[in-house]
Amino acid sequence: MKNRKSNRKSKKGKFWRKYNFEVLIFSLIVIGIFLIIEDFSIKNSILNAYIQIYDFLIKLFLTFYVTLTTLLYGVENSDLFGLGLIVFAIFLILLKWRQNLLSQYSIYEVCVDCNSRIHRIKRRKIIKIFAYIFRLKIKRYQCTACNQVGYIIRSL
Ligand SMILES: [Zn+2]
Repeated sequence: MKNRKSNRKSKKGKFWRKYNFEVLIFSLIVIGIFLIIEDFSIKNSILNAYIQIYDFLIKLFLTFYVTLTTLLYGVENSDLFGLGLIVFAIFLILLKWRQNLLSQYSIYEVCVDCNSRIHRIKRRKIIKIFAYIFRLKIKRYQCTACNQVGYIIRSL
């Protein structure tokens, strides 16, 4: 039973392409919180569709959940729910931070200090990893006159 491919080039598809990462993360958090609240009892009946789609990711999440519960043995479910909320809040903060980065380092073609020409230089590996995680396009540049190094950040 392979999952059906629906490559409709509609607005919905466009939205999905743009926000698939966010939707996936949000879904994982929702499923995680749901599993924590429901304690696995109705997992099979209601989450069947989700499990088919996110099978691998859910398994990964469950492994994480089991590890977490083992670590926090004896801790109440409400505490785990609280933990979930905190994780979700951190996610929202990161999202806001990403948005701030985007507006702060928007596109410019000259040096911010002296208005001279800028040229692209090699990025550090850590920047590449950061860009991948936060779904950003980061270019590093250097001013030809004052050697000022800066970044241009765009959304993927
Ligand atoms: Zn400059």
